[in-house]
Amino acid sequence: MTTPTEPRRAAGLLHIDWTACEGRGLCVELLPEALDRDEWGYPVARRGGPGERTDVPLVWEELDGAADAIALCPRLALGLKRLP
Ligand code: SF4
Repeated sequence: MTTPTEPRRAAGLLHIDWTACEGRGLCVELLPEALDRDEWGYPVARRGGPGERTDVPLVWEELDGAADAIALCPRLALGLKRLP
């Protein structure tokens, strides 16, 4: 059982390929609690460490939104790795 102060366990990692991304932010609109936009409009992780800006930890409730973002990304710049 988790407590409010206990970090929630990641269910997956959303990978953002910045070399393919065009930075329009559709994925940010679909995953507003997980993603933010940087100063140029590219999606970045709201959570995780400095090395996780393009590998975004997602909780279970965000997996459906991640699947939508992956399917709708016009540049095929997103991928999901589920964690055990
Ligand atoms: S939906 Fe795709 S192209 Fe658009 S900002 Fe997100 S990763 Fe980039």
